[in-house]
Amino acid sequence: MSASVFLSGLSHWFDDFQVLNGINLEIAAGEYVALLGPSGCGKTTLLSVLGGFIQPTDGQVWIGSTDMTNVLPAKRPTTTMFQDYALFPHMSLRDNVSFGLRMAGTPRRQRYRLADEKLDLVGLKADGSKRPHELSGGQRQRIALARALAVEPQVLLLDEPLGALDLKLRRAMQDELKDIQRQVGTTFVHVTHDQEEAMAIADRIIVMNAGRVEDVGPPARIYREPATLFTADFMGEMNHIDVRIINSKVETVLGLTDSLDLPDGVGKLCVRPEALSIDGNGRSLGNVILQDATFLGSYIRARFAPTDAPDQILVAHLPPTQTPKTGTVLKMYVETNSFCYFPDNMEKQN
Ligand code: ATP
Repeated sequence: MSASVFLSGLSHWFDDFQVLNGINLEIAAGEYVALLGPSGCGKTTLLSVLGGFIQPTDGQVWIGSTDMTNVLPAKRPTTTMFQDYALFPHMSLRDNVSFGLRMAGTPRRQRYRLADEKLDLVGLKADGSKRPHELSGGQRQRIALARALAVEPQVLLLDEPLGALDLKLRRAMQDELKDIQRQVGTTFVHVTHDQEEAMAIADRIIVMNAGRVEDVGPPARIYREPATLFTADFMGEMNHIDVRIINSKVETVLGLTDSLDLPDGVGKLCVRPEALSIDGNGRSLGNVILQDATFLGSYIRARFAPTDAPDQILVAHLPPTQTPKTGTVLKMYVETNSFCYFPDNMEKQN
């Protein structure tokens, strides 16, 4: 079972500090969404409002076709999995996983059967009689997930569930989480401040900033065509090129003088490092001088200073086989259709 979530005009204040500001969102039943944003932007508060732990100052929370705004956490079809998953150390894994079912009065045989199903789902069926201290960090995280799923919530709320794991394990667990979500079909709302994690797991990403929703969409769209400059910068490294547009003609300090179908004004053309190259493909950006280059395994991160605008440093990701020397003058190109444009007045409005 899974349920949709609908948030309408949601705002929340802690005393005189507004932490959520007019949030409207629709999450489909069975969807995996990531709530992504910098520390302090209100992700956990929004998750707590969804779980019923915080009563919003304004607005409504609907789960499925029911208004849940004033419903207590225990009466909601939601379960929250916290970063500190706090397994009971004196209980077996089977008892940990079936704890919520025990609280709900489910008879022992039935709850153990359901717990074993969930232990199987997370790949730990043979370990039901072990204690939490016998597990690795990744295994403990799986038990916490099995415990959260054992009560069969319609919506699972995950607050930085992989935050305590090292990077390699974190990436492996992202794949597992996504696979498990597909198998159970429950709606997952997953809080993270890690862009790569959000892109790896989510059907849609909700980007938050200072209590507001900045952007909502599938990972590829959010990355390639961000709705705001904040999202553009938050989703990964971005080059900003100051431009003036007069009669659709672009004026920049760089060699780009093409006509672009943009309204007149001043703003920023933004371009990802992987859209810049020195191999002759795309629009020319003129001559650049290589400042420095760092080998990062799958690519070289290179910083270039345009000869006409030495202060406008451009970062490019070059193939690891390309190793130009520092100080070399090269021609820089940018992939066609790889720009996003943000007028300066839009930036101020946000
Ligand atoms: P992080 O990624 O660091 O966990 P977050 O995006 O989840 O951050 P929240 O935990 O929702 O952010 O907090 C948002 C803001 O609200 C922060 O400035 C925080 O200090 C403040 N805040 C959170 N809980 C309370 C509270 N109970 N009372 C007062 N202020 C609070």
